[in-house]
Amino acid sequence: MARYTGPVCRLCRREGMKLFLKGARCYSEKCAIEKRNFPPGQHGKARKPKIVGYGLQLREKQKAKRYYGVPEIQFRNLFEKAARQKGVTGENLLAMLERRLDNIVFKIGFGTSRAMSRQLVRHGHIAVNGNKVDIPSYIVRPNDVVEIREKSKQNSAIQAALDATAHLPAPNWIEVDRQNLKARLLANPKREDLVQIKLEEQLIVELYSK
Ligand code: SF4
Repeated sequence: MARYTGPVCRLCRREGMKLFLKGARCYSEKCAIEKRNFPPGQHGKARKPKIVGYGLQLREKQKAKRYYGVPEIQFRNLFEKAARQKGVTGENLLAMLERRLDNIVFKIGFGTSRAMSRQLVRHGHIAVNGNKVDIPSYIVRPNDVVEIREKSKQNSAIQAALDATAHLPAPNWIEVDRQNLKARLLANPKREDLVQIKLEEQLIVELYSK
């Protein structure tokens, strides 16, 4: 299925929580969840469905997909990989989602949102271990170095993003060198380091294990 290109605040309203899809706006009073936290659509205010069982599992999966901006097919493939790894499948899945290149670029503040970070990767502004990588779904490994390519260091959109994210702390599993516009993945993220939103990954595992 094609990537969703409509208004992203609708996605947050559908899930009833902030998914942080719009950068600085998400932290401001302009956030749609602050102003109208009810599902989108004509009957949004009236609807108060009690979600249980399959519905709950589906919503949790949709929430994760939307938060990371990953299409269904890629999400399913990541789940299959996570299930083949040692350890807890749900945690493996989240760790791989976090280590996607577009997410790393966002986490280290080179982009103000995952959507912008995805664009930066696609447009060839990012290198991993000195080589250009333009695949947003590329999975970064511990000790890999992610950086802005030399020719893009003065790019105005990147400079603006760096200014906008300067106050945000870097995750403890990534070493960020903002001076030289590079970062190194120190380790695989642990469950407690993951995800800014409330997410029950076990429900996703149950959904895909039917
Ligand atoms: Fe829109 Fe961001 Fe608020 Fe979501 S969190 S409703 S994307 S402003």
